[in-house]
Amino acid sequence: MFARLPQLAHGGVKVLNLGSFYKPLLDRTDFRVQLALAMSLLCFLIVATLAIGASVVGEREARGATSEGLVGLAATLADRLARGADQRAGMVEVLARIEAIKPVLAGDPPAARKLLEQTLASIQGGRWFRFASADGTVTVAAEGSREGFSAGGRSWFEHGLQGTIVEQADELSYSLSGLAPDGEPYPIIDLASPVRDANGKPVGVLAFSLNWLWAANLRQQTLNRSSQWQTKELWILSRDGRMIVGPSIGSKPYSDAVLAQMLDQNRGSFSDGSKKDRMLTGFAVMQDRPSLGWIVIARQPEAIAFATAHHVVSVILILGLLTAMLGIVASLYLANRVSQPIMKLAHEADLIERHSVEMLPRVRGSREVVRLSSALRALILRIGFAEERTAAAELRAADAATRLSDDIARLRNLADTDTLTKLLNRRRFLDLAYEAMDGFRETGRGFGILMIDVDRFKSVNDRFGHPAGDRAIQWVAAKIIGSVRPNDLAARFGGEEFIVLVAEISMEGAEELAERIRLSIASEPLTGVGDDLQITVSIGVALTEKSDVDVEELIGRADLGLYRAKATGRNAVVAVAGGTPARRVA
Ligand code: GH3
Ligand code: MG
Ligand code: MG
Repeated sequence: MFARLPQLAHGGVKVLNLGSFYKPLLDRTDFRVQLALAMSLLCFLIVATLAIGASVVGEREARGATSEGLVGLAATLADRLARGADQRAGMVEVLARIEAIKPVLAGDPPAARKLLEQTLASIQGGRWFRFASADGTVTVAAEGSREGFSAGGRSWFEHGLQGTIVEQADELSYSLSGLAPDGEPYPIIDLASPVRDANGKPVGVLAFSLNWLWAANLRQQTLNRSSQWQTKELWILSRDGRMIVGPSIGSKPYSDAVLAQMLDQNRGSFSDGSKKDRMLTGFAVMQDRPSLGWIVIARQPEAIAFATAHHVVSVILILGLLTAMLGIVASLYLANRVSQPIMKLAHEADLIERHSVEMLPRVRGSREVVRLSSALRALILRIGFAEERTAAAELRAADAATRLSDDIARLRNLADTDTLTKLLNRRRFLDLAYEAMDGFRETGRGFGILMIDVDRFKSVNDRFGHPAGDRAIQWVAAKIIGSVRPNDLAARFGGEEFIVLVAEISMEGAEELAERIRLSIASEPLTGVGDDLQITVSIGVALTEKSDVDVEELIGRADLGLYRAKATGRNAVVAVAGGTPARRVA
């Protein structure tokens, strides 16, 4: 069993993650609602705690006080019963001791009867008054009860011979068994005292009986003096638990066990009855009259006993609920006051354009809100600065990139251009010529090459100096540029040697162009270098042929044309067709 525990722990036991459930819920719930809910829960808890506390304390207090009152009430009745019986017993004893009465009792029954009748009439609660002689015969009886019967064996007689007694009436048990109707003033207590002769020897027993009404009246008087007496019950039970005075005479309201406990405790209280109408019960046993041993019971419904406590609880509940409602209203108001400025801040922040950082208005409402507002304003300021800085940096970067690409273009230009003539240099020209050759192979669009060399240039340098030679080179370059079309390529191929690539042209056209270049140079002198200087050029012309292995073969043919022009006297144009002998144009 234990071996399985780890397995269980690692098995599919999923711990319910409350956080994952209620956190998103909180995110979707208004702060106002949250606060109001929390407040109402808090108020409810406070009210419930108060009410439960008050109810518990109140009930306990009420139970204590009421129990005490009920025990007191029972004890009072028990005491009054005992004292009432004692007084009458004392009276019987006094009568029995009066010497003058003794001979009357013994010898003059009519006089004795009158005496007893008068006495009985003057004492409240008397049922009968008798004298029995020593042999037990009732010789005198007041209140019309029988005379002449034997009281031998009757408790009052047998005990009365010994001394003054107060006892539960002999007949009571019969009465309680239903022989006597309710409310009948049947005897309930017997009082007796021995009548003795001069030697102290008992000559008879004088006995007096207290009736039911006496006890019932005492009960009513006692009850009437008690508070809330209408709601209380006051019973007198005999020692064996039968009801002597109360709503159901002769009944046995308590079990023997409860009875035994009451007799054992002497005084005390308990709750009994069904759950719905429980009764608080106080009891007092007439313990100091063991021959009576009656139990006085005082009862009150718990509902009435606790009514005050319950009333207090309901007042607390009502007040508590009112307070809770006030609390909820107050919390709603407070939450509104807190959340409104925050919502306003959020709204204003929403309105801010992404790219133009504007200022948030100042929002007020509480110290925290003012603080939050100013923090947001500061944040927005910082965002503004940061965006400005970013924009400036972007601008600078773009500037640098432009400059860089300009530089690269300039450098490329520089690398591709001849510094003296500003024409393409040889390297760049050859790149482009190779590309053109590729284009010719792909599309069949042919082109021409003009190879141009200044005649006897060495003598120019020799006669006018090197700078004049440079000027002459520039001048020739300008003449060439002036003669070609924009999409023809002109380059300085060597010292005083130039090359021109002429796009899409026939041999005739190329020759014409070469001739135009030759004439433009030869037809006017170069001025400004001392003597006017007559410069001429020789030009070799060639056209792409399908058989050309590469562009250099084509250039080679143009070079051959140039060579032939030089050889035949210079200041001339010689075209060389593929496979055909060179022919002089001019
Ligand atoms: P030809 O071509 O008619 O046979 O005679 P040439 O005098 O032109 O002969 P060559 O081509 O052998 O001489 C070229 C001369 O051009 C040699 C050199 O001093 C000169 N030269 C080359 N480059 C420059 C330059 O850039 N500036 C100057 N001033 N002279 C240069
Ligand atoms: Mg040369
Ligand atoms: Mg030359």
